[in-house]
Amino acid sequence: DIRNAGDEQTREPDIEQKLRPLSFLDFKGQYKVVENLQIFVKAALMRGDALDHVLLHGPPGLGKTTLSNIISHELGVGFKLTSGPVLDKPGDLAGILTSLEPNDVLFIDEIHRLSPIVEEYLYSAMEDFRIDIVIDKGPGAKSIQIELNPFTLIGATTRSGLLTSPLRARFGINCHLEYYDVDVLKGIISRSARILDVPILEEASAEISRRSRGTPRIANSLLRRVRDFALVKGNGEIDMAITKFSLEALDIDQHGLDQMDHKILLTIMDKFGGGPVGLSTIATAIGEDSGTIEEVYEPFLIKEGFIKRTPRGRMVTPLAYQHFGRENGASQSS
Ligand code: ADP
Repeated sequence: DIRNAGDEQTREPDIEQKLRPLSFLDFKGQYKVVENLQIFVKAALMRGDALDHVLLHGPPGLGKTTLSNIISHELGVGFKLTSGPVLDKPGDLAGILTSLEPNDVLFIDEIHRLSPIVEEYLYSAMEDFRIDIVIDKGPGAKSIQIELNPFTLIGATTRSGLLTSPLRARFGINCHLEYYDVDVLKGIISRSARILDVPILEEASAEISRRSRGTPRIANSLLRRVRDFALVKGNGEIDMAITKFSLEALDIDQHGLDQMDHKILLTIMDKFGGGPVGLSTIATAIGEDSGTIEEVYEPFLIKEGFIKRTPRGRMVTPLAYQHFGRENGASQSS
């Protein structure tokens, strides 16, 4: 599963780091979001204030961490990174918050997974740059107030639907990242190939970009794998033949759909006669969390026209049947 391979931060960390754009100029696509962020960053710099808190949402691998890094870079401030599940005690949060220099960026990945207590502490930190820490328990308990340096919280989430409304309300800037067009991905692949110093033909980068599920992380990850095949099975250059050979070996289909995408589509076709079927029923049938299907997998399948949302549930489209080389819906159900 390429997506999971790419998600793993510890794998080939140096390469990941090398491929990460460091300025708005190098960050391709998401034009509207980038344009707005550039204005807000510039205004914050002109005022000498911390940038307002930013919420970035969208599927994994679209550049939320990268953009946050760029924002801190362009602001000329420090960058601290943590994540919702890691911050499980208020003390952990307090430790990080008190270590921030004025106007620093604190990036919290998977912010929808903060524990309610930690989230509560975050409210006053975000609003008044202040936290109240309770020392001791029982009758001797007292609370002390700690003043913080002004900072910018950047929260990233794949599941914006799970954010509580008080937390959501505390972000002044709210950006949704979209899947990338094939052309933009092609540009990202060419740039990465240049950085990795691997020769690649134009048509090969186009092919990889078509199979990357609209996702830069997957594009970079496929490029690295194809590069391995080119080195071992070819002469090091990435051409169309070695690209097709590698993608086949990696089980990436023509559209870049992966095993979970296949599972979702085939389940609706084979178990539910093509739909309409409710999301939670699909989720139970394939043993995946319904929220994850809704916010991580389904958006791409809908964007590409494989699934339709109807008032009565999800339906696969004729395109989905075509994709699996089947004639049509009704006759295929079992
Ligand atoms: P997210 O935080 O949304 O899961 P990341 O910011 O970690 O995604 O991006 C994954 C990888 O994709 C990064 O290593 C980066 O190199 C690359 N990437 C993401 N967005 C872009 C972009 N717009 N241009 C170039 N590379 C990008």
